[in-house]
Amino acid sequence: MFNCLNKKQNTIFNQHNILKLVKKYSSPLWIYDANIILKNIRKLRQFDVIRFAQKACSNIHILRLFRENGVKIDAVSLGEIERGLISGYNSINQGIIFTADVIDFLTLKKIKRYRIPVNVGSIDMLHQIGEVSPGHHIWLRINPKFGHGHNKKTNTGGEHSKHGIWDISLTIPLIKKYNFKLIGLHMHIGSGVDYSYLERACEEMVKQVLCFNFDIQMISTGGGLTIPYKLNERSFDIKKYFTLWNEARKKISSHLNHVVQLEIEPGRFLVAESGILVSEVRSVKKTSSRLFVLVNAGFNDLIRPVMYGSYHHISVISGDGRVLNEENTKETVVGGPLCESGDIFTQNSQGDIEVRMLPRVKPGDYLVFHDTGAYGASMSSNYNSRPLIPEILFEDGHFRVIRRRQTMEELLRLETHCV
Ligand SMILES: *Cc1c(COP(=O)(O)O)cnc(C)c1O
Repeated sequence: MFNCLNKKQNTIFNQHNILKLVKKYSSPLWIYDANIILKNIRKLRQFDVIRFAQKACSNIHILRLFRENGVKIDAVSLGEIERGLISGYNSINQGIIFTADVIDFLTLKKIKRYRIPVNVGSIDMLHQIGEVSPGHHIWLRINPKFGHGHNKKTNTGGEHSKHGIWDISLTIPLIKKYNFKLIGLHMHIGSGVDYSYLERACEEMVKQVLCFNFDIQMISTGGGLTIPYKLNERSFDIKKYFTLWNEARKKISSHLNHVVQLEIEPGRFLVAESGILVSEVRSVKKTSSRLFVLVNAGFNDLIRPVMYGSYHHISVISGDGRVLNEENTKETVVGGPLCESGDIFTQNSQGDIEVRMLPRVKPGDYLVFHDTGAYGASMSSNYNSRPLIPEILFEDGHFRVIRRRQTMEELLRLETHCV
């Protein structure tokens, strides 16, 4: 983790590298460190299968990195299936699984053609898949009837959640009717793990298997593992998480009289800490009560603070080599360039403005948003007609561009060439 000045010279996210990249590719830009991703993969090796929920960071070069390191992927749209295929994944050993609560016609064709197992989240989907692809390999996504999230928008279980199947018994006649091959049961209780919820989730999983006598090969714990966004937050206790799920797996295995594999499906945990967003200060201004520092990245680039009130640590790099004074910090509101008053990176989940203690900066300095590897670039938009910004990956000792900056021409092309 970082101080408010970017002093961590022993990581690749040091001033020297950042200034070099900004000079070469200009800002704003995303930078990732492959080594951090590899380190996070190693932390989960106890699980039989690690499946990356690619919506957290779906760049195909990152997906390739996962594939080369034995990690499978989850796709939640036709586009994410395409990304998986182009990254070298296929249906062998369930390299890609499609998870959704709805499926459209084109996606049905795709999953049939490439024999991609589907993690089914609604009864309607069972009919729709069965009509097109009888005998298809499926998982069932259970609504655990309760949920948990770092924000109510990321709560994925309970009566108010649209995700998963509420009454799993309804699937039994349909599995028979369409001759589906049921591989496993899946549960994703939401982002931000609370251990008491976890115990309930494990119990619920065991209960569902025992109650309906599904003969399955695997169970999936979903994702939702947290990372320490704040300096004083603690790392996630993987050992405890594994132990709880492993107990559930053992109970299920002994009930079914054969080994059941344990799969984990994180997004955030694998990539969040591997990425930063670098922005340049373009204006420093004051009102009667506030000091605003406005940078050239907006919520079109990084939406988490605006959407969820998420905290991202911000550090500062001087653009002209002068020494910044960390002893003398000011309450600072950090915002972006968008023509929308909510384009503020320092706010809580209610939308109230918050402040950061930052040293005095001026236009030409850089603000670095930390831990933006998950739900950063993948949630970016073109709002305010702003092109997507570059992504740079540090791997095998050097930096390379894994997504170049979108051009204005590319952005407009859908409209200039609309027939
Ligand atoms: C989003 C999602 C995940 C990953 O969630 P994280 O909080 O990033 O770990 C896992 N599984 C499913 C089905 C998801 O939709």
